[in-house]
Amino acid sequence: MNRSLYTKLVLIILFLIIALMVVAGVFLTRGVRSFYLNDFYDRMAEVFADQELADSLRDAAENDDTELMSEMLGVYAGRLGIDSGTRNYHILSGDTGEWLAGSVRPENGFVDITPNIVSALNGENGDESDPNADYMDVALPVEGGGRDYIIYIIDNRETMRSLNGQLLLIIVEALAVGLVISVFLSLLLAKTMIAPIQELTRAAEKVAGGDFTDKVDNTSKDEIGVLTRTFNDMAVQLEDTLDDLKRSEQMRREFVANVSHELRTPITGVKSYAETLAADPDMPADTRERFLNVILNESDRMTKIVQDLLTLSRFDAGSIEFSFDEFSFETSVRDVYNAVRMEAQAHGHVFTLETEPDIPRIRGDKARVEQVIMNMVSNAIKYTKDGGRIAIKAGVRGGEVWCSVKDNGIGIPKEDVQKVFDRFYRVDKARSRESGGTGLGLSIAQEIVARHGGRIDVKSRPGHGSTFTVWLPVGGPEDA
Ligand code: ADP
Repeated sequence: MNRSLYTKLVLIILFLIIALMVVAGVFLTRGVRSFYLNDFYDRMAEVFADQELADSLRDAAENDDTELMSEMLGVYAGRLGIDSGTRNYHILSGDTGEWLAGSVRPENGFVDITPNIVSALNGENGDESDPNADYMDVALPVEGGGRDYIIYIIDNRETMRSLNGQLLLIIVEALAVGLVISVFLSLLLAKTMIAPIQELTRAAEKVAGGDFTDKVDNTSKDEIGVLTRTFNDMAVQLEDTLDDLKRSEQMRREFVANVSHELRTPITGVKSYAETLAADPDMPADTRERFLNVILNESDRMTKIVQDLLTLSRFDAGSIEFSFDEFSFETSVRDVYNAVRMEAQAHGHVFTLETEPDIPRIRGDKARVEQVIMNMVSNAIKYTKDGGRIAIKAGVRGGEVWCSVKDNGIGIPKEDVQKVFDRFYRVDKARSRESGGTGLGLSIAQEIVARHGGRIDVKSRPGHGSTFTVWLPVGGPEDA
């Protein structure tokens, strides 16, 4: 199990919840504090702006009647929020700050001198709020008859502190609940996100080990679903590529074996005839000539095989340049027909040509297209008993020109039909050899046709004959 991703997710959720709670806590406690401060000073300003209270306080002060002043403040206690617990009023001496009266007697008999009291001692209103102090106070000087007074109201912020304490408690509780929720959330995450990733990892490990049988199932539309499907596609492509590689490696081995075999036969022939000639200087002249002819024929054969192989390998390497030009397809078919007519007649074949009217000119490599048609026609002659029927036809259909060569020769067995385009494949090796074939002609033809964006195929019935047909796009490979 991929612990690390799981742990990371859980940690992220945890941090998120804690961060959220800390931010909420800071904002709430600050909010409470500023609310209390504002409320306190607003209230004080409002009450002491009351003309009636100011007048009666002044009257009482002029009579130096602290008791009356205290009573007056007692009347306003509700509006001032005096509760004799956290908030109290005091009447101090305006000259010394000495405590004279109040809603409660201070512990030591005097109140601490705060900056606001100092202001009042100097005859100014002391109503500055100090957010960092642990109390809130206002001190207002009142002129008396004989002596001056200070009305002093102080709040020890206990209410605010206990409210903030409550808030903190709530936040800690919420944090605990949040942590429990985060555990459930992470379980859910593990199920919906991490499990598919783990499944994908397992499949990837299998693919890395060469096992392509497993496909991961994930139909969801999220990123993991997309990733899974991409992975599946990739695995399929990889498998196909590997299969292709294996196949082409197999083909390469077979090809090398075939080439060696094909070349060994003529070399053995040349060698044995040459040895016989060398061993017998008194050989009759006609036998000598026959042997020399065999040697020449076999050499020609080798040359042809090597030439064909070279052509094919150049096709494979893509190093053969085709020269695409416009030419008359019909004329090419006719030229091939005329070139082979004598040979066909020499074999006693009925050799015919039939072309549709209006065959368009096409773009292609004229010489190579004629090579393809020539290959089909000479095969027809080779694989048809003397006195047969060979018909060449040509025409146009749907942007493609076509040419078919039909014979009533030996035909091709069903199981061999598609293999005749394979390199060195021959249905009957001896017969092909006899007629000078290499088994490479149709492979080369197929390559040429493919480079034109066309196709070539064959229909055949053993004993009845074959029809080879080639199709080429009129506009050349780009038109295919
Ligand atoms: P080859 O040089 O042997 O003719 P090709 O590649 O031209 O090589 O043809 C491959 C094989 O296909 C031939 O050996 C032959 O067995 C078969 N073949 C080709 N054309 C015909 C045909 N018209 N009739 C019967 N068999 C054919």
